[in-house]
Order: sequence, then structure tokens, then C-alpha cells
Amino acid sequence: MVQATKKIWMDGKFVDWDDAQVHVLSHTLHYGLGAFEGIRCYDTIRGPAIFRLAEHVERLLQSAHIAGMKVPYTQQELEQAIVDTIKINDVQECYIRPLVYLGYGEMGINNAHNPVNVSIAVWPWGAYLGEDALQNGIRVRVSSFTRHHVNVMMTKAKIVGNYANSQLAKMEAIHSGYDEAIMLDPQGNVAEGSGENIFIVRRGELKTPPLTAILEGITRNSIVDVARHMGLTVHESILSRDELYIADEAFFTGTAAELTPIREVDNRIIGSGRPGPMTAKLQEAFFRVVQGKDDSFQEWLTYI
Ligand code: PMP
Repeated sequence: MVQATKKIWMDGKFVDWDDAQVHVLSHTLHYGLGAFEGIRCYDTIRGPAIFRLAEHVERLLQSAHIAGMKVPYTQQELEQAIVDTIKINDVQECYIRPLVYLGYGEMGINNAHNPVNVSIAVWPWGAYLGEDALQNGIRVRVSSFTRHHVNVMMTKAKIVGNYANSQLAKMEAIHSGYDEAIMLDPQGNVAEGSGENIFIVRRGELKTPPLTAILEGITRNSIVDVARHMGLTVHESILSRDELYIADEAFFTGTAAELTPIREVDNRIIGSGRPGPMTAKLQEAFFRVVQGKDDSFQEWLTYI
């Protein structure tokens, strides 16, 4: 169960957690067009801080724009609403879930007359794939489900309906005894996890798939910046399935998953079967950044 907090922001008002309800005929619930974000607030030495708030709100607005939904709030209003939601709930560390959805009105595919509603919920959420996953890495399988083609779903947008594909892949992975799925794009190259971007390390250099069929992950961008700041070489280029198998190291990145090492792909051990040295170094650097311990990246933190 989600760990309930006190209030949820709904269209400009704070509502008690248990009263944050929508009508069963809400349009998004039936047809899947909506936009959402996943953001984390970390407890730092200077109090709670939201990681890359502006970038997440910008992506939310861009997702809605791609989906053709007019959000009745500005970037600044949404950033403030997120800060206010954390304050009113009095949490130090939390996950933040803003959602833009089409509400109750008409039924049918034409959504022109449905209201665009916005909600923001926050709750404590620990390691998405578990503490053990962060420390020891996870086992993943290449999914039998293909990631969206860019002209089937809009992959730059974090659209609610995109996650039907993610759920098919995730549940297939879980039911066959793995922790997470890796999806290939329609051309057969490695795309991303069900809710994470992927990196490998090979011959001392980092490689991550280009921004075609994948979500432009904010953690992905952050890791690229942090790695380059550390003097590492990062390539954004096509990654084939068999290159994954012979990677020296591999890891997932995402707001929920943070930086989770991958120790096995399709029953093939990656590297030593333990999080590799570059993965461990980047994971440590990432946690230092989000916890406000690295002065080079303070501009990524919004202190509450
Ligand atoms: N890919 C997908 C499909 C995702 O859902 C996520 C999580 N938002 C990511 C990648 C990682 O994105 P971010 O680092 O911005 O959370």
C-alpha cells in the first residue's frame, strides 16, 4: 500500500488524502490520455530539497502539450503547488506524483469537452526496486514486448497510456522470475526499462541509447553530466542486445529507481556479477548530489 500522507492538491485546493476521489467516468481512466511526473524530494543536510523540480515541471507541461492537453496552470504555479504540497504534508523525504488528466464530462474518444484536471500527491517511497537492488544489482530480461515506435505513442511524453506497454513488460519479467524488463525498440535495439533508462560500461566508457524511442530521463541527463564532470566518456549511440550481454557493467537510471546496478541479463552474468567499479562510483556521486553534498550541482536542488 502507498504510505498515505495528509493532503493531496487537486485543482488548486488541498483535499484530505481519503477524499481525493474522481468520478468513475473520468476520461483518462477509460482512454489513457493524461500526463504525469515522478519527482523526488531528498532529505539533505540543509533540509528537504526537490531534485530538478523545474526540469520535471517543464517535462510535465511538454508531455501535456504533446498530448494536446491545455494545462490551466503555469510552470511557476505548478512548482509552487508542489512545494506547498510537501510543506502541508510535513514530509522530509518523498516521491512526488503530479498528474494531468481528463476529467468527467463527455464519453467517447473526442476529448474536446472534458476538463483538464491536475493533482499532486506526495508520499514516502524508499528504493523502488528494493534496498538490495541498489546494493547488489538486479536480474533483468529482454522483454517479448517491443517499446513504442515514435509514431505509435509519443515517447518524449510521459503519457499515462504509454505505461500499458511498460506494465506488460514488467509483469512478464516478474512472472518469469526477473526483477525488471529491458525493452527493445521497433528496430530491435535496446531502448529502456519499464520505467528506467539504461547505461552500459564497455572498455572503460559509458554508453546509453539515443533519445529516439525512449523517455528523455532527467536522471539519465544528470548521470551524463555527473559522469562527464568526473572526466568519464559517455556515448549516446545505438546499443544492441548482444552488446548488453558483453558489457562490463550495466545499470538503470530513473527518479524512482535512482541508479540501480544490473548484474544479469537473460541469464548472462554482467561483469563479475556484482555492481562494477564505475557503476558504484557513479551511484555514490549521484547520492551525494541529490543529498546536497556536492557543491557543483547545487542548482539542481530546490530547498523547501
Ligand atoms: N523511461 C521511462 C519509461 C520512465 O518511466 C522513466 C521514469 N520517469 C524513465 C525512463 C526515467 O526518467 P527520469 O529519470 O526522468 O525519472
